[in-house]
Amino acid sequence: MKKVCIIGTGYVGLVTWACLADMKNRVVCVDNDIEKVKMLKRGKVPIYEPGLEEIIARNMAAGRLTFTTSIPEGVRSSEIVFIAVSTPPKADGTADLTAVAMVAREVAEAMDGYRLIVDKSTVPVKTGEKVAETIKRYNRKNVDFDVASNPEFLREGSAIGDTMIPDRIVIGVSSKRAAKILKELYAPLKAPIIVTDIKSAEIIKHASNSLLALKISFANALGQICELAGANVMQVVEGMGLDKRIGKAFLNAGIGYGGSCFPKDVAAFIKISEELGFDFELLKMVEQINRDQRMRFVKKIEETLWIVKNKTIGVLGLAFKPNTDDMRSAPSLDIIAALQREGATVKAYDPQAMEVSRKMLKGVKFCKGPYEVARGSDALVIVTEWDEFRQLNLDKLRSIMAHPIIIDGRNIFDPAVMEEKGFIYKSIGR
Ligand code: NAD
Repeated sequence: MKKVCIIGTGYVGLVTWACLADMKNRVVCVDNDIEKVKMLKRGKVPIYEPGLEEIIARNMAAGRLTFTTSIPEGVRSSEIVFIAVSTPPKADGTADLTAVAMVAREVAEAMDGYRLIVDKSTVPVKTGEKVAETIKRYNRKNVDFDVASNPEFLREGSAIGDTMIPDRIVIGVSSKRAAKILKELYAPLKAPIIVTDIKSAEIIKHASNSLLALKISFANALGQICELAGANVMQVVEGMGLDKRIGKAFLNAGIGYGGSCFPKDVAAFIKISEELGFDFELLKMVEQINRDQRMRFVKKIEETLWIVKNKTIGVLGLAFKPNTDDMRSAPSLDIIAALQREGATVKAYDPQAMEVSRKMLKGVKFCKGPYEVARGSDALVIVTEWDEFRQLNLDKLRSIMAHPIIIDGRNIFDPAVMEEKGFIYKSIGR
């Protein structure tokens, strides 16, 4: 049993905190968002993540989880201090490390004995050095400490499984003591543990996300080639993905990646490389293809409807991917804005992201379900591939739409079935 403090209770912090408590550790969670901490104290989970509420309830009942807004309180009662705060992109693409720096200082000021400070936030290479310098500077009691990097690879929507059964755990350390503590902490997970230096660990995270984004952009470029050639991208990527050297994960054509990680991490990695003196042109193309993909989808809608002005377009799915309520950099935001600019009326529904979307999207009519979106719509566009949409009754859908037009950005239906059901159906790369 270890005593752990996690600073930052976002998608990463909350899941890490809940899972570490489930592994019988005592975990204090700190956040400077007073409302969030109040909610958690009442047993309410501020985000949607499948399975999270149950784990939190179970571990709260067992007394292994506590919450506070005070970093000193968290630091004094723990041996390991994780930093899991946000590292949002600045306008030029570099990561904003203000929160990491602030937290490092507060942690240092509160330390009253040895602490292992572990960075879990996604940060540029060499951030560990800066964190160590900051801690040294504000380490009033001059106590021993170590800094480590332990990048997070969980995916929203399957975060609990990804944390409890990870493909690997990466630990970047500069001392045997730090390596030992983290290996002991993660021993119950029985996952491969890569122990490396801090800088390599930091690069592993950015490089992994950049390669995954590259696979998505590659599939989207293939989608275009397939459309031009009259081939089927889904069959092409299936034929490629079965090759173990390639793998089928993240090799899907669609409307591109979004969310709080890939866009910002690719942009940050380009900047990091530039600062180090390397022009990562390959990643610039990954970004370009991704940006274009959203607008190509809008163009597809326009080409199908001819005139978009005064048409009612129903949008199915708003979150950046299924099984989350996260709307950060979601393709739906750009697509809806473009349709509204053209004068369309937009109706929308998402199984989990309605509350967040209401704050981010103006002039949209939010509906209670997919059939309400479809009723009277001139076209439906599928933006997020929620399972709920795959189960739709297509006959019912066709009967209530003004025109049976579906433009599917996620290729969830079979074009032959859609034609048989009487739809004008457009999808990506086939
Ligand atoms: P988030 O925005 O959901 O959560 C960050 C939390 O930190 C918020 O609750 C915020 O209130 C808190 N915070 C910010 N500044 C603070 C401060 N000074 N003191 C205390 N609390 C503070 O972010 P997230 O999605 O959980 O991401 C956190 C980090 O993990 C980022 O670096 C991100 O790139 C990385 N990451 C995210 C994911 C993901 O899927 N979301 C996956 C892997 C890695």
